[in-house]
Formats: sequence, structure tokens, C-alpha cells
Amino acid sequence: IVEIGSMSVRTVKPHAVCIPHPAQGHINPMMILAKLLHSKGFHITFVNTEYNHRRLLHSRGPTALDGLPDFRFHTIPDGLPPSADPADGTQHIPSLCKSTMNTCLPHFRDLLARLNEAQGEVPPVSCIVSDGVMSFTLDAAEELGVPEVLFWTPSACGYMGYIHYKEVVDKGLLPLQDEDARLRNGYLDTPIDWIRGMPAGHRLRDLPSFIRTSTPDDRFMVGFLIHETQRASRASAIILNTFEELERPVLDAMASILSPPVYPIGPLSLQSRQLRPNSPVATIGSNLWKADSSCLGWLEGRHPGSVLYVNFGSITVMSNQQLLEFAWGLAGSGQDFLWVIRPDLVRGDSAALPKEFLEETRERGLLASWCPQEAVLAHPAVGGFLTHSGWNSTLESICEGVPMLCWPFFAEQQTNCRYACAEWGIGMEIDSNVRREEVAALIRELMAGTRGKEMRKKALIWKERAENAAKPGGSSATNLDNLVEEVLLLGR
Ligand code: UDP
Repeated sequence: IVEIGSMSVRTVKPHAVCIPHPAQGHINPMMILAKLLHSKGFHITFVNTEYNHRRLLHSRGPTALDGLPDFRFHTIPDGLPPSADPADGTQHIPSLCKSTMNTCLPHFRDLLARLNEAQGEVPPVSCIVSDGVMSFTLDAAEELGVPEVLFWTPSACGYMGYIHYKEVVDKGLLPLQDEDARLRNGYLDTPIDWIRGMPAGHRLRDLPSFIRTSTPDDRFMVGFLIHETQRASRASAIILNTFEELERPVLDAMASILSPPVYPIGPLSLQSRQLRPNSPVATIGSNLWKADSSCLGWLEGRHPGSVLYVNFGSITVMSNQQLLEFAWGLAGSGQDFLWVIRPDLVRGDSAALPKEFLEETRERGLLASWCPQEAVLAHPAVGGFLTHSGWNSTLESICEGVPMLCWPFFAEQQTNCRYACAEWGIGMEIDSNVRREEVAALIRELMAGTRGKEMRKKALIWKERAENAAKPGGSSATNLDNLVEEVLLLGR
């Protein structure tokens, strides 16, 4: 009920159902967006998979997801066989894409019906904010007659790559028939100069990695992403966690290709600074792993810019040999480091580091298994980030003005790496065939060399631009307000 003059008028809150793809790098930005919409007066239903809901409870404690009267959690099954251990780590992305696409729609439909039947308790569902790779939700939105916004969580340059997968196939650049021979012949260096908005010098290797089609999973992902990008034309709008100044050419080109309007509203983590820090919503977390905050204490008192932060995100896996190359590279660099090693980082094995390495780096290195990354990047002691170039990590690094060493693992991380190194001037790439000497030399260059200094300067410029975009009146904050007015409120 709102008071207008001497009258009391009954209004119904808009109700947004937010449904992320069930992986960490998708849940985090969707959670921030949900909180921002809540602060703008929306009732929120946040839909997790049953599996992730258990993991969130495990990492945050039983009260973490009680929700609030107007910010509630619901679950649907992901369609995968149950896992016994709620602390279990990484999920397999192609399997998740396959199973959510094939099994989630009826469960999602039922959930929407139940929400709309619970009249009086919650307002009717008035819009859906769905992850871009959960496009089955479009069917449910159309049946309900409410607008649906697709949130593609990669960079605009990465998303642009996916949008062009179909053309890559049509041009006969894929599938790779004889992968080894083609790789030897520099096949991945084939110039890609036909995608509007992409800079000169773009190569096949800079497109999201699945087009290398080196595994059956890759081949599935190419088909899946063609399917999902094509269905996106049915959305009322598309939103991206980026800002205009960072990716203008590709955003302009995208706007001329796609029929739904595109709203760049990032970095969401900076927009979230406008939220009241003590509001009950602020305590809702989205970490699937239990974060170890003691590393923040370890950073205290270290010289500004002296620590290299190393973290490969939630999905990357590597061989034991690659882990060793990084370890000895870190040791050889002579720099202080904070290295986050997920228990499942090493493929098919638990990550074991040699005793000699641990002894040699005891004074200057700290190992952790999951950390509050944004707080770590914001710490003045951190001077560089060795990253897998996941989009959230890249943006979080930009938001704190921290230059990067990039070792992209998969998906659009290759594109993010290319842009960080060649376009934004804030990254240096580590060869995929990682060697300790190269790691050590690049770390020294990043932390103490002239290139590192230049990159740090540029990173600080990008940080300022990101802050300007996200503050009230900035491009991203304005785009979010426009999205609400022009799209999300239309379903009431
Ligand atoms: N993250 C974190 N602590 C960690 C590792 C990662 O909080 O120890 C967060 C990080 O801040 C980011 C997300 O997990 O928001 C990872 O997303 P990203 O897109 O960088 O990579 P992905 O995990 O999807 O490969």
C-alpha cells in the first residue's frame, strides 16, 4: 500500500524470477543482479538447482538461505545423478548444459504455476531473468505472457564469438578433421577478420575454445551454443555484465545484429556497492565453496603491490605436471604469492605439491582452497593476478586496477585473454604448454618490470572507467534503470 496525497493506493510489487545456470561464475553475477532488482522494489524468486542449494547451505550455514519475505529461494532438479557429498566440487559444464536443457523446463513451469497459485503470499510473476544458456525458460515465459530477459554472463567479445559459431561452421572452418595436423600447421592462427566489431589481428584461437572441437564435449558445446544463441532472438532483451567504454566496438556491432535490445550493465560487482551494506539482503551469499578469509590476515602488513594472487576459478582443471610447472615458476620468481588451489584442481587426482617447494616458499607463499576473491583483489598488498581469464575474475581484476597474467582454460576465456593482452593492455599470456621458466620470468616482469608498470597504469585507468560506468548516472547504472523501465516492468 502506498500513500499518495490523502489516499492509500494498493499496488502490487513486480516479481522477478531469477534463474542462473548452475555454475559459480553464473550464480555470482545473477545474485548481484537479483539484489539490485530487489533494491529497486522487486519481489525476487531465486531459483537454484537442488544440488547447488545443498552446496550453498553447506558453505554458508543453514540460515544462509532462509531468504526474506520478498527475496525467496526455490529449487529445481538439474537432471544429473545425485552426488553424495555436498562439498563435492566442480561440475562438468557440458553435462550440466545437456541435462538442464533436457530436463528443467517442466520443473520450472511447475514452479511458476505454484508461485502464481500462492496468491496473496507473493505477487504474480511479472518477469523472468534467465541465464543465456538456460533458454528453455523462454518457453515458460511465453506461456505465461511475461517478458524474459536473457543474462549472458560472458564478456561481450566472448558472446560475440558464440553468436558467430554458426558462421564458423558454415564457412567450413569446423569441425577440425585432423586436429593434430591442423594445429601443427598453425591452423588456429587463421585470421578471423569477418566478425564486425572484432579488432584486426583476431585469430581462430581467440574465439571461444569449443570450436577447436578436440573432444566430443567440444562438439556438443558448439551445437548447444548455436542453439542457445539462436533462441536468444526470442528474448525481450539481452543483458551483459560489461560496460560500454570497455567493449564499445563489439557492443555496437552486436546491437546491429541482434533483434532484442542489448543492455550492458556491468561491472555488477561495482553497481552492488550502491546497496545498503547492513540490509538483510546483503548477507545472502553465493559461494559454492566455503571461503577461507584467513588469507586476508596474511595479506595485512605486506608491502603494497608485493603479492601475486593466483586463482584458476571454479572449473579449470590441470594435470599434475602443469601444477608443478606453476609451483616451480612461483618459487623461481622470488615473489610473494597467495595461491588458491581447489581440492579438485588437478585432473583425476588431489593436488599434491612437493615438500621442497613448500619448504622453499614457506616465508613468502600462502596456499588456500577458496577465498573471498573480491576482497583479496581489493587488498593493497595484491599487485598482480595470475588467472584463468574467467569473465568474472577478469572484471573483478579490472574493478580493482590489478594487471593480470592469463592462462585461459576453456570457453570464452581465450577471447578474454586476447582482449586483456592486446586490446586493454592489462594482461600478458602464459603459453598453454606451461613451463616454469616462462612463468617465473612473466611473474617478475608483471610485478617488477617496466611492462608490469605500464600495465598497472592502464589497469588503474580501466578501474576508474569501470567505477564511472557503475556509479549513479553512469552508463551501466543508467542502462539498468532503463532495462527496468523499458522491459522488466512491462509484464505487470
Ligand atoms: N571465486 C571466489 N573465490 C575463489 C575463486 C573464485 O570467490 O577462490 C569467485 C570469483 O570471484 C568469481 C567466480 O568465483 O566471481 C569465478 O568466476 P569466473 O567467471 O572468473 O570463472 P569460472 O569459475 O566460471 O571459471
